[in-house]
Amino acid sequence: MASKLPKLPSIRDLIRLYDLRAKQQLSQNFIMDKNITDKIVSLAGLELDNALCVEVGPGPGLLTRSILDSGAQAVIAVEKDPRFIPTLQQLQDASEGRFQVILGDMLKINHSEIMDRGRNLADREFEHVHLLGNLPFGVATPLLVQWLHMLAMKEGIFSAPNASMSLMFQKEVGDRITAVASESARGRLSVVAQSLCDAFKIYNVPSTSFVPKPKVDASVVQLRPLETPLLKSSLAGLEHVVRFAFMKRRKMLSKIFKDWDAKHLVLLEECEIDPRLRPQDVTTEQFCQLAYLIEQRGIKLPY
Ligand code: SAM
Repeated sequence: MASKLPKLPSIRDLIRLYDLRAKQQLSQNFIMDKNITDKIVSLAGLELDNALCVEVGPGPGLLTRSILDSGAQAVIAVEKDPRFIPTLQQLQDASEGRFQVILGDMLKINHSEIMDRGRNLADREFEHVHLLGNLPFGVATPLLVQWLHMLAMKEGIFSAPNASMSLMFQKEVGDRITAVASESARGRLSVVAQSLCDAFKIYNVPSTSFVPKPKVDASVVQLRPLETPLLKSSLAGLEHVVRFAFMKRRKMLSKIFKDWDAKHLVLLEECEIDPRLRPQDVTTEQFCQLAYLIEQRGIKLPY
């Protein structure tokens, strides 16, 4: 079984040959240094047996090469820009049946296509699905939110028994996803992500590592689904509550909730939330309990 790629033209040469100038509207910032993509893959700690790797936005394909060089046996990539298809098809040919590219939009694609293509490559069901990508920064947050919804419902690629995500975000977004209670970057995305996953940074990548160089640094965040999720309501229910709370992030909860429900103090007390706290100081567990009680009692949020 192949586990290393043969020698291939350099990414720089391919970009020159196919005139693959980066398009800003598709958030294209490429990594040209294989030491960095190898490091991302090694820090992602991929389980390779019975595993499907799904890469979002492979572009010219350097991260894809690192995934394949790690020994992955089934890799499906989804790329929106047709200009990259010829170079990715070359990689497909060199991969000895371990890699396929789909031309499509990851926000809109039917995940059953990804799973079907993966099954055809490996001829089996998967125990592990790893989602990887140097995400297009312009749609990174909507993509993550969509995946969290699918994870909550065990849908699409998240229907596999084990799913993990190792994803590159702008550093500031990575800070938000991973911030725990009382950290200044704490916000809606922290609570929503951590209600379902253990979320932590595995690698910081300076802006100078990308071509063209973006304005900000990046971080690779790993999200591993919790064995027992903290989420007890629907994810939409939790999103509603945190959106409401963080609209007035500098105010105390007693003030934020007062205008909305007369019984707010009782509700906060039931969740063991000190009403003098600000939203960023509330733990994920407390927010999940609050969303659960609100949903269970049919309390309407003021939208
Ligand atoms: N993986 C490459 C790398 O690390 O050098 C490229 C990363 S670049 C930041 C983001 C890639 O995502 C680009 O190739 C872009 O065309 C692609 N892309 C943008 N929006 C997309 C979408 N909605 N679905 C799939 N791919 C998308």
